[in-house]
Amino acid sequence: MQVNIKNLIDDGQCYQTVRELRWPDGITCPSCESKHVIKRGFDDTELARQRYECHDCHTRFDDLTDTIFAGHHQPLKVWILCLYFMGLNLSRLILDSRVLCDQ
Ligand SMILES: [Zn+2]
Repeated sequence: MQVNIKNLIDDGQCYQTVRELRWPDGITCPSCESKHVIKRGFDDTELARQRYECHDCHTRFDDLTDTIFAGHHQPLKVWILCLYFMGLNLSRLILDSRVLCDQ
């Protein structure tokens, strides 16, 4: 998919971009890979960050759980823009997140 820089200006679009890259076929539980996922509102500080709960294993997660963006104190927008300007392949980076986080 093409990432349009103009779409990355607001937080909502940033999270939407992550969702589309991460879950192109629909949201999947990071724990059991179930597609029975319920939306559980939004993060208290990052209002565009959607929270979910898995209907099957009751794992709670959000848009950034298990991505390289989780656990960093930078706004997602900063990350997306940095990575974009560095010419990195966002989807590959998100898929490789477990490797990066373990280092
Ligand atoms: Zn699950």
